[in-house]
Amino acid sequence: MRQLKIWNDSTIFFVLLCFATFCNYLTEAETQWSYTGETGPSNWGEMCAVGQAQSPVNLENQVYEKNLKANPLVFKGYDEKLMNSELTNNGHTLKLSLKSEEGNSTAIPAEISGGGLNGTYHFAQLHFHWGQTSNYGSEHWMYSETFPLEVHLVHYNKKYGSLAKAAAKPDGLAVLGTFYHIQKEDNSVFSDLTNKFQQIQEPQEISENLSGLSLASFIPPMGSKTTEFFRYEGSLTTPGCYESVTWTVFRHCLAISEEQMSSFRALYDGQGQPLVNNFRPVQPLHGRSILVSFDDNDVEFNYGFDPRITLDESATTDKNEVENLYGDEKDGAKKIWQKSQNSQ
Ligand SMILES: [Zn+2]
Repeated sequence: MRQLKIWNDSTIFFVLLCFATFCNYLTEAETQWSYTGETGPSNWGEMCAVGQAQSPVNLENQVYEKNLKANPLVFKGYDEKLMNSELTNNGHTLKLSLKSEEGNSTAIPAEISGGGLNGTYHFAQLHFHWGQTSNYGSEHWMYSETFPLEVHLVHYNKKYGSLAKAAAKPDGLAVLGTFYHIQKEDNSVFSDLTNKFQQIQEPQEISENLSGLSLASFIPPMGSKTTEFFRYEGSLTTPGCYESVTWTVFRHCLAISEEQMSSFRALYDGQGQPLVNNFRPVQPLHGRSILVSFDDNDVEFNYGFDPRITLDESATTDKNEVENLYGDEKDGAKKIWQKSQNSQ
């Protein structure tokens, strides 16, 4: 019944749901996108092909914006335990969303505002992008560094009332991005999550009743660590690539173990292949500015770790493999390849 109801919603909603579980209900042309080959990013159509404000991007050459520092992000409901949440493998990513019970939800809404955002944005879902090895996997790059995992927390502008209505509006969406680096110890947040992964190894299966997690688990510690971020105007990173996203990518990272990354890599996509390398290549800025909320000239920012180092010694990076990942974008492939060489 729920699926039928969604079928009656707008097309835009369907595009967003390609983050979600219902792609089988779309026409072939709409569903046939992937991260490799003929249906891969270099052949995505419409805005993905012609847009001038696309995401992701390499975060560098930033401009300090003092208003971003003076008005930090305000998080509401981020510390609350997630109630009525569900974890879905949709064949493109792993997604955590909140079930709304037709206006009967008792869950406290999670919202963000401030931080230079033009309004209040309501949390809709979060999802992940990751690599086959820990040399790459993130969508954004920070100072030309890639990371094994990036989480996106997707919010819609409250004034539009729903994700579907907001998705194509210039001020419709606000997405928070957090990078992960590798550490030896497990991240306890993912210990809760990866236990559920086995239930959703194949697409379309839903694991429910995630409790004990809060949205704060997926951003750097609130307060000092969330005040430092990159800000730019961009797009969804999956078709239709609407240029409706105000991006906030945190400068500080979280951490995860190689063993926990293996749980992501053990998922399968809709073609029976391992669900890995679900990231879009970085896109040209076309004159856009990358603003930052932190005022220092330390572009050699000390992360407290070297993001290039992977603790998985069995991980090897094959040059052809990387070039395939990046399709026609040989520059990107070259950079990643050089990076993987430097890290060995
Ligand atoms: Zn994403």
